Amino acid sequence: TKKTLFSIRKAFEEIFEILGKQIYYSNIDLKLNYEYDKGELLIYGYENEFKQVLLNLINNAKNKIIEKDSQNKYNLIINIFYDENYTTIEIIDDGGNIEEDILDKIFEPYFTTKKSGTGFGLYMAKVIIEDKMNGLISVKNRDKNVVFTLKLPHHKGAQ
Ligand code: ADP
Ligand code: MG
Repeated sequence: TKKTLFSIRKAFEEIFEILGKQIYYSNIDLKLNYEYDKGELLIYGYENEFKQVLLNLINNAKNKIIEKDSQNKYNLIINIFYDENYTTIEIIDDGGNIEEDILDKIFEPYFTTKKSGTGFGLYMAKVIIEDKMNGLISVKNRDKNVVFTLKLPHHKGAQ
């Protein structure tokens, strides 16, 4: 495969075609904030791998929330914005913080806190975003939220 320019809005549409019903019928309140008003926001890279990354991040949050009490509502917020250097995507959930002492381990291969986890999703995410697409992926706890941030550099001359 080779790198192409692809629409981030379309990537999310395709992801929510896969996940939409599962989320709709769950206790998750999903909001997608597309904060770019100048038409299509394009990303340069590997479209399928990139969608796989988004799917993994969303599934991690979704599965954590679905295992909690179904009476409570939780929020899954996706913010997409654009600045001078990067297109930034934040994936935020309020289903419970990540313990501080494992925050720097979760991107390592085979690291998992789940009974039948593979510990591979975030490792692959880091490889795809950072090694293959020259971006950055990071995580932090912000109040009650877990925030994953993806930063993708702009393709020179394309936008
Ligand atoms: P797996 O899902 O198989 O455990 P991942 O690489 O996707 O592997 O995630 C590694 C670990 O990071 C998870 O086991 C979990 O402890 C933590 N994690 C990932 N995403 C979240 C999240 N949204 N909230 C809390 N913990 C998370
Ligand atoms: Mg996972």
